[in-house]
Amino acid sequence: MVRNKGVAGVSYGSINTWKLIEKEYKPEKALLYDSLFSLGNGYMGSRGFHPEENKESYEAMVFIAGVYDYIKAGITDFVNTPNIFYINLYIDGQLLNPFECNIIDYDRELDMKNGVLYRKLTVRDSKERDTVIEYSRFFSLKEKHLAVTRYKVTPLNYSGEITVLNGIDAASSNNPIPDDQLKSDSEVVSLFDVTSINHYKKNSVSIGFNTKGTNIHMSEALCVVSPEGGVEHDSISLAKIVGIKSTKKVLKGSSIELDTYSAIYTSRDGIADIEKASKEMIADASLRGYRRVLRDSEEEWSLKWDISSIDIKGDDLLEQGLRYNIFQLISSNSQHDGTVSIGARGLTHSRYKGCYFWDTEIFMLPFYIYTCPEAAKNLLMFRYNTLKAAEENARNQNLSGARYPWMCNTDGIEQCETWDIGFSEVHITADIAYAIENYYNITGDIEFYLDYGAEILIQTARYWASRFTYDLRNDLYNMLFVKGPNEYGGVTLNNTYTTLLALYNLELGKKAIEMLKSNRRSKWIDMKSEMGFEESEINLWNDIITKAKVNYDEAKNLYIEDDNFYKLEVLDISAYKKGEEPLYKTICFDRLQRYRVIKQADVILLMCLLPDKFSKLEMKAAWDEYESITLHDSSLSYGTHAQFAAWLDYKEEAYSYLMKSIRLDIDNIMNNTGKEGIHFAAAGASWQAFIFGICGIYIRDHTLLAKPCLPDHIKDVQFKLIYNDRKYEIKIDNSHKPLKTNISTVD
Ligand code: BGC
Repeated sequence: MVRNKGVAGVSYGSINTWKLIEKEYKPEKALLYDSLFSLGNGYMGSRGFHPEENKESYEAMVFIAGVYDYIKAGITDFVNTPNIFYINLYIDGQLLNPFECNIIDYDRELDMKNGVLYRKLTVRDSKERDTVIEYSRFFSLKEKHLAVTRYKVTPLNYSGEITVLNGIDAASSNNPIPDDQLKSDSEVVSLFDVTSINHYKKNSVSIGFNTKGTNIHMSEALCVVSPEGGVEHDSISLAKIVGIKSTKKVLKGSSIELDTYSAIYTSRDGIADIEKASKEMIADASLRGYRRVLRDSEEEWSLKWDISSIDIKGDDLLEQGLRYNIFQLISSNSQHDGTVSIGARGLTHSRYKGCYFWDTEIFMLPFYIYTCPEAAKNLLMFRYNTLKAAEENARNQNLSGARYPWMCNTDGIEQCETWDIGFSEVHITADIAYAIENYYNITGDIEFYLDYGAEILIQTARYWASRFTYDLRNDLYNMLFVKGPNEYGGVTLNNTYTTLLALYNLELGKKAIEMLKSNRRSKWIDMKSEMGFEESEINLWNDIITKAKVNYDEAKNLYIEDDNFYKLEVLDISAYKKGEEPLYKTICFDRLQRYRVIKQADVILLMCLLPDKFSKLEMKAAWDEYESITLHDSSLSYGTHAQFAAWLDYKEEAYSYLMKSIRLDIDNIMNNTGKEGIHFAAAGASWQAFIFGICGIYIRDHTLLAKPCLPDHIKDVQFKLIYNDRKYEIKIDNSHKPLKTNISTVD
């Protein structure tokens, strides 16, 4: 059976599970589709805006991974770089904005298989001229510095002179969104200066610019080619638009077709002459031509999909949604670069100032570990490369070891401006340690572990040892004044998620020391003296491990959220929560933190991360206590609940949460996808919910195993995973009872 009814009540016709299709232009949905049609290749990315739309200077967003600039002392934003996709269309010398015309026919499609955005418009203007305007855009997955477009204009009922201006719009600006949800985002700032403009050919320009505070130099080159010829090119500068005007007399029914090659390099690339590099890249790409460059990129996509596609028989909405999440996870990941991570909205929006959170390590990382270990390794290398900043952060907070920031950009310095979250949501440090161990357990990458991971594990363990507070009267250690994943829990005492992951981090620190002692003895001796590490510190770690206060009700087998949980006021949720919109939009955080409600998976997430530490009874008790009062006011929550429900064999709940997570953006479930971009943690959580929850993949005794909890309507599932350097193919056949699972290695 094909279930074609979306979770938000959206009805679908037949679904192409490799595509996202928009059939009607609705201005009120423009921002949503800008988000959904975002493209990227990890190095750079942009929202799916139409090239001719008259957007505000901050709405047509094009991002380059790692390019941030200051918006105030010490605080940065993700720079909205010049728009390389700017187009003006003129007919007989007059500007024609297709979106101010009568749109007769409209079709926009995201081809996820090949990473290309296509659009075909037929418009009738005020002079009754009908024009077909076709457009495609892609970022090459093979050549990270290259973006390509094709623009074709066909006059249907007239002949005329058609001019297309393909430009770089350097008027781009940022509209920083304050962390504090109560403040509005009214300010508009320009974060770079144009430093050079070089019209070096009739069909080619290059432009240099510098971020104002971080002094990152960028070079963008653009050239326009007409595959069929007969076009006059002229390189021009108009206020802040630099570009190429291409003109042709076009007869009724024939066309002008233009291919644009844009290359971007920055001083972060470690290349001496970035202007030269960008010019060479477009010259070379334009020689090879659109089809060849596209084919090369498609080949890369096909390799990516070979390992990461999930094929599902019996549920098109699920298959399409999963592919969409995977598509975005690939598009925003700089696989080979260990100096950047993935922001909460990837390369699709500057929400949260483009900052990196625990979203990467806890929610997204498993997808990369199992499908592209190199990408996973580089995401963790980012944490190694910012370890010194984390150490300084700990020192500044009068603590030892390394304390990772809640939000950061490439330099690893705290970017969170709200005190209660920035200072108290400390669990991120243990989340990173957890991720390192997880990566090592699944990949077996001992070199990474010993060369980089171990140092992080030890320094983070030292942090926790200094962050617990000893209570002499009761001879126990408390975790005071922290905020768990449940951000509605206030700055609380002994948040169970934080405490248990911190204790796990202490165990991992001990293990790392043993591993270094037995595999890299001399490295350990040097490291020890550099860190000023005393073996006696381990005695304190052990003492904390045995005496930390953990809120546990033995009679109920229940891990309790924190010390305050039962002091909070019970809330009639149904009276306040309408639909999926977060409650913080109507009730302020101060009031919320005194209600017994949970923003997002907390104890339940802990149990998903460390399943072997909890019994089935404890898991059931946690579900019974917390699920009904969890508001899912963060997009991170649904996926975790789906996974957990599947583990408890709650099939219906698992599927319902899964679909909310998987279709969160496509169906705009939280009503903020347009304004804020794609939710990357939810994308990662969706993948985990499906693989670990619904398909029940787990590892025991170094073997990949499965205990699926598939809904009956799904007949068949097939996907691949990489475990311990080997590729496995997993097939689950649910067409007969009992279902059959086959896990075999592939070459
Ligand atoms: C969530 C955090 C998350 C952040 C960025 C917040 O709403 O509560 O857990 O890290 O968004 O996605």
